[in-house]
Amino acid sequence: MPQNFDLHTHSNASDGSYSPGDLVKLAAESGVTTLALTDHDTVSGVVEAVVAGKKFGVTVIPGVEISIDFAPGAMHICGYYLDIDNPELQAGLNFVQVARRNRNPRIIEKLKVLGLNITLDEVKAAAGPDQLGRPHFAKVLVQKGYANDTQEAFNKYLAKGAPAYMDKQRLPLAQAVAMIKAAGGVAVLAHPVQLRLETMADYLTKFKELKAAGVEGIEAFNSYQSEAENQQLYRITKELDMLITAGSDFHGEIKPKVKLGQFGENVPLRIEDIIEAIQATRKNLKLYELKEY
Ligand SMILES: [Zn+2]
Ligand SMILES: [Zn+2]
Repeated sequence: MPQNFDLHTHSNASDGSYSPGDLVKLAAESGVTTLALTDHDTVSGVVEAVVAGKKFGVTVIPGVEISIDFAPGAMHICGYYLDIDNPELQAGLNFVQVARRNRNPRIIEKLKVLGLNITLDEVKAAAGPDQLGRPHFAKVLVQKGYANDTQEAFNKYLAKGAPAYMDKQRLPLAQAVAMIKAAGGVAVLAHPVQLRLETMADYLTKFKELKAAGVEGIEAFNSYQSEAENQQLYRITKELDMLITAGSDFHGEIKPKVKLGQFGENVPLRIEDIIEAIQATRKNLKLYELKEY
């Protein structure tokens, strides 16, 4: 059942297909009245989203989603209620952005060694206003006949383990948490199942570790997870007395099956309660030693 809130969404400030303003407009049309914008490693869409929120009657929560250095799966931490002008937050995000820009020419070089000639300008043109990423390299490889489709371009060249793969710069957890807290935000683990742990007991152990490291919440409900996983994660998060959040991880046309406000069948959360819990948590932020990192 769709909800009237969504705390995990992407605009074209990262890898979503809608501009921040259009995303907020779509939220209003979809009955979503509270929306967090959580673009990957950037807060550059937040101002436009907040302005659009005022126009369309949607409460926009300034957020971000930061990729963390982790194995075996992917660890993403969302920050909510951020002061987007905070210098520590900006410096950290800027570091990731610069690393990302440096990565792109190296992918071009690796492709060249393989006899595939594409230019950064071609990839930039494919990206348009979007944050440049591997899907745009794939698009150009297909356009130039080096691959039949995007999937093949990834499998043969761009995916992890393929010859033109370049790993993305990821931050240590402590740094990401420190950046979020410096900016007055709360830190929440996104889509837990993407950590790819074995059992629910493993998740419980990991959540305890995260809590000790300053992560206050878990996105127990997410469109990547089955209903059973959602409910199990909800239970263990509650046991640990951590914030419980929910979000779709909406990307627009890029992931068309994921819809705004949809992240499970039986979601026993009200947005008013989530916000109240987040605000109560933020009052205790001074407990953490921010300047240590
Ligand atoms: Zn994510
Ligand atoms: Zn996301």
